[in-house]
Amino acid sequence: MTMTMTGTEELKSLFARIAEAMAREKDRLCELDGVIGDADHGIAMELGFAAAAKAVSELDTTAADPTLVFNTAAKSFLNAVGASSGPLYATALMRAGAVAKGKSTLNDDDMVEIFAALAKGIQDRGKAEVGEKTMVDAWAPAAAACRAARDQGLSLAGCFAAALKAGEAGAEATKDMVAAKGRSSRLGDRALGHMDPGAASAVVVIACFHDHFM
Ligand SMILES: [Mg+2]
Repeated sequence: MTMTMTGTEELKSLFARIAEAMAREKDRLCELDGVIGDADHGIAMELGFAAAAKAVSELDTTAADPTLVFNTAAKSFLNAVGASSGPLYATALMRAGAVAKGKSTLNDDDMVEIFAALAKGIQDRGKAEVGEKTMVDAWAPAAAACRAARDQGLSLAGCFAAALKAGEAGAEATKDMVAAKGRSSRLGDRALGHMDPGAASAVVVIACFHDHFM
């Protein structure tokens, strides 16, 4: 099995990849949000990751360690997106930065832990459980599948393939859920049959991890 070492330069290109993907998916995410909310989710996610990718791209690769990359991304995301998904992804990215602390490069186990920390950060900040029609419905099963794959000895590519499959299934399952939290909860059954936009954008992020490490 090949071991991947992820450093500042690789993280910069991962953030660039996520920003590009959000720009591509913006309209679809806004349409999904329009069913339950104010149709701005795609705009927020594009703004947030564009700001994060730009800020980390400006870091000096020889001086900035992975923790600084994640912390810079967190701060920029929050500055760009003050409400809703902003604090969730900012917390997630800060947690990732904490996992990377003291390391100049990240090995496969570190990357699995960072992925789990992103998911946990979102869940802790949003205080949502699986089944409540939120982005946690994609992130939580993806992180669990990623860890399980690693425990079985799979490569990082295999881990993120498992994560993506579980995240996609989790997002798909939100179509049958009635929201318990947030603005969409007031709509009750009206959102039935529609994927949660936060879960959909989570899959976009997870797919970037998959594509980056395959
Ligand atoms: Mg919205």
